[in-house]
Amino acid sequence: MSLLPTYDDVVQAAARIAGAANHTPVLTSRTANEEFGAEVFFKCENMQRMGAFKFRGAYNALSRFSPEQRRAGVVAFSSGNHAQAVALSARLLGMPATIIMPHDAPAAKVAATQGYGGKVVFYDRYTEDREAIGRALAEKDGLTLVPPYDHPDVIAGQGTAAKELFEETGPLDAFFVCLGGGGLLSGSALSTRALAPDCSLYGVEPEAGNDGQQSFRKGEIVHIDTPKTIADGAQTQHLGKLTFPIIQRDVDDILTVSDDELVACMRFFAERMKIVVEPTGCLGFAAARKMKDSLKGKRIGILVSGGNIDLPRFASLMG
Ligand SMILES: *Cc1c(COP(=O)(O)O)cnc(C)c1O
Repeated sequence: MSLLPTYDDVVQAAARIAGAANHTPVLTSRTANEEFGAEVFFKCENMQRMGAFKFRGAYNALSRFSPEQRRAGVVAFSSGNHAQAVALSARLLGMPATIIMPHDAPAAKVAATQGYGGKVVFYDRYTEDREAIGRALAEKDGLTLVPPYDHPDVIAGQGTAAKELFEETGPLDAFFVCLGGGGLLSGSALSTRALAPDCSLYGVEPEAGNDGQQSFRKGEIVHIDTPKTIADGAQTQHLGKLTFPIIQRDVDDILTVSDDELVACMRFFAERMKIVVEPTGCLGFAAARKMKDSLKGKRIGILVSGGNIDLPRFASLMG
């Protein structure tokens, strides 16, 4: 079995991305505190560069490339935010990037990826295997494939957001993290167990895509069909070979929320906190709200993972 990343790797990642990544704000809201009867801290990765935490993992991974790898460039497959993260990191580090994206990826994410200089290759997410396409391109042109979550440098980079949160707030009682393939959750788990060992840590998925919850309960990685949900950043079909064992070891439970609950949270963020959060970015808050009766008097962390959504789509969901 491959060696799992550790909190040491998160600390090294934090040093590597310092200066390139934003140290994002931790916001609070009196309205949220009143609703919960608790103290709620929102780590706002919607204010990260390119609009999501994924810049952390991508920049960390790409900055470890050898000179030969940099010359040939990077290839990545992604439904959106990882694509933008790799394209921007590649541009900052001076290397070419090829991004494999689904035909139905949000227009804003495609445009942003191209805007960062990434070359976009499209595939059909319901019939084609993006991992196979990525591997073929990697072999043909000597590109280095950086997967969206199942890579030790990506996991370590994603863990830097939780590290910053705990360094700012001190230990928390409960922490809610969005879950797709588990890069963010496993990285967050490394930081949580190092900095707030007694904190309850929850991963949160859309109801339609509860492969992580099934895997967690069953003790092995469960594969599902691409789920239909507005949380496009969590439409992954399975956890990773690295992310799953960390999640199994360090996470307390995996919870699910409905698309309607995500929309209610998007509205809360816009109306009350004046921030734009994409549906996937609302997973953590939506789950915390569902179990708020058990959180009274506690200190709660919410990872707000991203804010990339087309404005017309945002308007139609809020309408
Ligand atoms: C990718 C992504 C997630 C899920 O992250 P994983 O590391 O795949 O679990 C959650 N929220 C947003 C905004 C994302 O872009």
